[in-house]
Amino acid sequence: MSRTTADSCPGVLRLHEAADGPLARVRIPGGRLLPQQIQALAAAAHRLGDGNIELTSRGNVQLRQVRDAAELAGLLGDAGLLPSRSHERVRNIIASPLSGRIGPHPDIRPLVTALDTRLLGSPRLAGLPGRVLFTVDDGRGDVSGLRPDIGIHGLDDDRFALLLAGRDSGVRIPASAAVDTLVAAAHGFLELGTGQWRLQEIDDGVARLTGLLGCSPGTERLEIAEAAGPPIGWLPQDDGLVALGAGVRLGSLPARTAEFLAAIERPILLTPWRSLVITDLEEGPAEQAVRVLAPMGLLFDADSPWLQITACAGQPGCAKAHTDVRADAAAAVEAGRTTATATVEARAVSAEAVVTAGRQHWSGCGRRCGRPAGQITDVTATPDGYQVGFPAD
Ligand code: SF4
Repeated sequence: MSRTTADSCPGVLRLHEAADGPLARVRIPGGRLLPQQIQALAAAAHRLGDGNIELTSRGNVQLRQVRDAAELAGLLGDAGLLPSRSHERVRNIIASPLSGRIGPHPDIRPLVTALDTRLLGSPRLAGLPGRVLFTVDDGRGDVSGLRPDIGIHGLDDDRFALLLAGRDSGVRIPASAAVDTLVAAAHGFLELGTGQWRLQEIDDGVARLTGLLGCSPGTERLEIAEAAGPPIGWLPQDDGLVALGAGVRLGSLPARTAEFLAAIERPILLTPWRSLVITDLEEGPAEQAVRVLAPMGLLFDADSPWLQITACAGQPGCAKAHTDVRADAAAAVEAGRTTATATVEARAVSAEAVVTAGRQHWSGCGRRCGRPAGQITDVTATPDGYQVGFPAD
């Protein structure tokens, strides 16, 4: 499959003209934010945007209704969130959020840093489409299921499986060669591609790329499981400190809440499940953080019905939307209609008549942007109301 147009993924320097105004997307490799960086995002959302920071399914963030693009670029650049004007849209790296802090798996954080540095250091790789996704999974299997174009998955302390187009390629690499291989695969993508946005769009892309890399795939193949859900609540770290996993309602983080997060002065991790993890806390400050942040809307209860719901932008952000899906989804959660016994309706129904349960994605039209992979109930707006499509058994 060939594309006739370049991908239109937005960045900080190339805004998307959404229906409600210019939209900027800020890449956060590995989802890692320092306190001053989340403070900068809060300031940007407050002063230059609509007052919210949107978390994306790639662990990046978006700002809507951007009023001054040049000021935004300056503010984010000063905070280290725009280290390159040429490469900003290619830094799509998702990594196991808890790596190096919780669990017996190898610490992949240095690999994420090295991969980002190498991407930034290659003028040619600035030409990667903004859709190309890298994943670095430490072996716990939380992010490999996100269908990366190019990824690695830890097998033991020193060995990784190379993932291509969301599947195990059969290639095995030592940790010392992991970043070289990821970078070489990115160059290979450019060599093979004729305008495609994703590796799976290139005919026989996996086999041809493996050949270009000079690798001999073995016969063993990992079954790549569906990506895990967000880590939520009190998470004891291996070093005796505590991490707090927090869900964010419909992925929209108010700037005011972000300011409180920055004030904790600990690293924050954004996850691809539109949640975040506050790390490296002593127990007392962790308890205090929950007491302050839970009333502000952050979700520390893994059973919260909000954690089952995702939604696209809908109205007023998207011109294609038939309705304000986020408001309708929020009303359904508040009314307890997203955890009730689901009713099967063949016809479209009004927002107030939608009754469903389990993981669900609300969309303003049939494109279903931002729909997570896996068994999901689709609640999709049509001109006649909502159509509810339950997952097949
Ligand atoms: S699913 Fe439709 S309404 Fe929602 S953001 Fe995508 S195009 Fe817009």
